[in-house]
Amino acid sequence: MAPAPTEQNGRTVQVVPLLRLHHLGHRRFDYLVPLEMDDTVAIGSVVYVPFGRRTVRAVVVAEGSGSPPPETGLRALHSVTPQKVPAALLRLAESVAQRYLASYESCLRLVVPPEQGKGGSGAGRARGQWVTRTPVPDEGLSLTAKQRSVLEALGEEAFPVGALCERAGVGRGVVRALIDKDLLMLCEPQPQVAERPAPAADTASAWATTAPMPTLWPGQAEAVQELLNAYDDPAFVRRLLWGVTGSGKTEVYLRLIARALQRHEGAILLVPEIALTPQMIARVRERFGPRVAALHSGLTRKERADEYQRIASGEARIVVGARSAVFAPVERLSLVIVDEAHESSYKQEEEPRYHAVDVAAMRLAETGGMLLEGTATPSVESVHAAGGTIRLAQRALGEEPPTEVVDMRRQGPGLLLAPYAREALAATMRRGEQAIVLLNRRGYAAYVHCDSCGHALACHDCELTLTYHSRSRRLVCHHCGRTYAQPVRCPSCGEGPLTRGSPGTERLATELKALVPREQVFQMDSDVIGGGRRVQSLLQSFAHTHPAVLLGTQMVAKGHDFPDVTLVLVADADTGLYLPDFRAAERTFQLLRQVAGRAGRAEKPGRVVVQTWNPDVPCIRMALEQEEDRFYQEELRARRRLGYPPFTQMIRLVTAAREPDRAQAAASYLAERLAPHLRPKELWGPSRLPTLRGKARWHVLVAASDGGRVRRLVGQAVEQLAGPYRRRGVLLLVDVDPYSFG
Ligand code: ADP
Ligand code: ZN
Repeated sequence: MAPAPTEQNGRTVQVVPLLRLHHLGHRRFDYLVPLEMDDTVAIGSVVYVPFGRRTVRAVVVAEGSGSPPPETGLRALHSVTPQKVPAALLRLAESVAQRYLASYESCLRLVVPPEQGKGGSGAGRARGQWVTRTPVPDEGLSLTAKQRSVLEALGEEAFPVGALCERAGVGRGVVRALIDKDLLMLCEPQPQVAERPAPAADTASAWATTAPMPTLWPGQAEAVQELLNAYDDPAFVRRLLWGVTGSGKTEVYLRLIARALQRHEGAILLVPEIALTPQMIARVRERFGPRVAALHSGLTRKERADEYQRIASGEARIVVGARSAVFAPVERLSLVIVDEAHESSYKQEEEPRYHAVDVAAMRLAETGGMLLEGTATPSVESVHAAGGTIRLAQRALGEEPPTEVVDMRRQGPGLLLAPYAREALAATMRRGEQAIVLLNRRGYAAYVHCDSCGHALACHDCELTLTYHSRSRRLVCHHCGRTYAQPVRCPSCGEGPLTRGSPGTERLATELKALVPREQVFQMDSDVIGGGRRVQSLLQSFAHTHPAVLLGTQMVAKGHDFPDVTLVLVADADTGLYLPDFRAAERTFQLLRQVAGRAGRAEKPGRVVVQTWNPDVPCIRMALEQEEDRFYQEELRARRRLGYPPFTQMIRLVTAAREPDRAQAAASYLAERLAPHLRPKELWGPSRLPTLRGKARWHVLVAASDGGRVRRLVGQAVEQLAGPYRRRGVLLLVDVDPYSFG
C-alpha cells in the first residue's frame, strides 16, 4: 500500500507506533502531515502510518521540529482517526514510562482508545468462538512461550479465537491448550449487552440516586464524615479505610462517589480482577445507574470500545474496573478508590510493570483529589503512605475469637493434622457446621527427595524442585509445566528410597476424606478450579452443604462470607515464611489475618486453630495475638533499618539467556555500571537465579532512598546494555517496585 505523494506544507509530527518494538526503546518517528489532515492532526491524535511495509496504528505525541529538507525522505501519515488521547493521559503515559523504566509505547497502549470494532467479516466473527481469561492466575504455571504470547495478546479482553491466534501469531492448538489449562474460557460474543441499562435519557436527573441509601451505622457515619472532610481539601490526599469484609466499606465508597458527582467530578473504583467485579458493578449501578461504566475482562472488544466512549464523552463519570481502569479517560477525576488494595493483581507483571495504586497517586497528584485504599489487611507500604487511617469495626458481630496455637514441634513427626486440630474439626462436623482449612501449597508433595543421598528431584529446564501430583501421578514443574514420571530409584545415587516431603492440599484432601465423608470435602485451588463460574458454583455447593469442609490454598482466605463457618484451621502457618522476599513476613501476617477473619461471622461463635513450627517468629506471633498496630510498627522499623521499601526505591534487573555466560556477563555489566554510584548496601548481586525454561537467569537488585536518582542511573545502565546484549540474545527485564523475586 503506497499512498500517492500528497501535498503538504512541511509540518511534521512525532509519532509512536503501537508495535512491540522493544529494541527501539523510547523512539519516536517523524512523519509529514498531508495538507488535508492539517486541521485534524493534533497532539494525542490516533493515526495510521506507513511503517516498513505495513500500515500501523500510532499516536501523535509531539509536533515535529519543523520543515525537514526534502531529501530526508520522510514519509507522510497514512490517515488520521477521530480518536484522541486526552492530554492529561498522554502526560500520564509518559510519567509511567519514566517511573517504571518502561517503553513509552507500552504505556501509550494503556491510554489509547480501543480500536473501534470493525464491521469487516462481521458474521463470521460473531459466529466464531470467543475466549477470555479465567480468574486462574498464570504465575508459576506451566506455559510455553506461545501460550504466554496468547495471554499477552488477549490481555483482559475477550476475543474471537481466530483473531486472537492471528494477533499472537499462533495456531488454534495453543488456545485450546490454554482452555485445557483453565487459563482461558469460551465466552459469548457479547455477553453483557442485554444487561446493560440504556444510556441516560435526560441529564436533568443526573444527580438523583436510583436506589435508596441506607442509614449509616455510627462507625460508618464517622468514617464517611472524616473522609468527606479530607476529600473537600482540594490538594492530593491519601487515606486508608481499614475494615474487614462486611464492615461496610463499600457503603462508604458509595457516599464518597456521590460527593464526586455532586461536585460534577469523576471517580474510579478499582476492584481486583474478575470474581468480585460483577457484584461490585451491580452495587454501584444500583446506586448511580447509567452514570457508571464498567471495564473488566468479561467485555467484548466492541463493548469495551462502547464503555470507553461513554467515559470519554462524559456520559459516564464513574468507572468501576480492574487494574487498567486507572487509565480510564475520566474527566475532572478527583477520586480513586481501591478496594482490597492489598491484592497482588494491582501490580502488572508484564511491561509496563506498574502498580495501579501508585499510578492513581501519580494521576491525582497532578490535579488534586483523594486516593482511598480499602482493605482488611493493608500492605506495609499503604499504611506508611496513607495520610490517615480510618478503622471500621465489624458491626454487631462478636469479638474475633482468640487463636488456638498448635505447636507442631511438640507433635509426632510426619503429622499433617495434630490430634487437637482433628478434634476441633470433628466437633465442628458433629454440630453440623462448616470449616475452612488452609494449606498454601499446591499438589501432593512439594518435593521428592532421596533418603540415601539427599538429592531432590528437579526440573531439567528450570532447576526447581518438582511437585508430586497424586491426581496425575506425575512430578510437575510449577514453573514451566513439564511433567515427569517418578523414577523408581534416585537418578543421582541409584539408590533410594525416594520420599515425598512438604505435603500440599492434595495430600491433605486425602487425609480429610478419611475423617469426613468425601462429599462433604470441597477442594479449591488452581489445580482443581477452572473459570470463574466453577469457582462460584463450588462455593455455592459448599455454602449449602452441612456439615462441610472447604480446603484450599490462599484462595480460601479471600473475603468469602459464610455464616456457618465456625472453624478456621490453618494446617501450616509457615509456608510463606522462608521465601527469598522481603515481604515474606508481611504476606504471612496478611494471610493469617485474612483467614482468621473467615471464622464465626454470624451469631455462632468461631474458632481459629493454627498449626505452626514457628510460634515465636514475630509475624506469626503477632498475627495470632491480633497485634496489628504493633506488627506494622515493627515491620516498618525493620524495613527502614534494612533499607527496604517504602524507605527506598527498589529496582530489580533480571537477565536471561540460553547461554549461561551471556546472562551472567550482562548482569555483571549492569552491576559494574551501577556500583560506582551506589553505596555497597544499596546494591545486591549479581546473583544467580534458578534456570527457567532452559534460560539461565541472573539478577541485580538496587534499593536506595533517592528514587529519582536511582531510576536515572538504572535507566542509563539499561540503555547502554540494551543494544549489544539484546543482539546477543540476552533478555532484560526491568522491574521497578518489584513484587516477585523468583
Ligand atoms: P465491605 O465492603 O466492608 O465488605 P459492605 O459495604 O459490603 O462491607 O457491607 C456489608 C453488608 O452490610 C452489605 O450487605 C451491605 O449492603 C450492608 N450494609 C452496609 N452498610 C449498611 C448500612 N448502613 N445499613 C444497612 N446495611 C448496610
Ligand atoms: Zn520446569
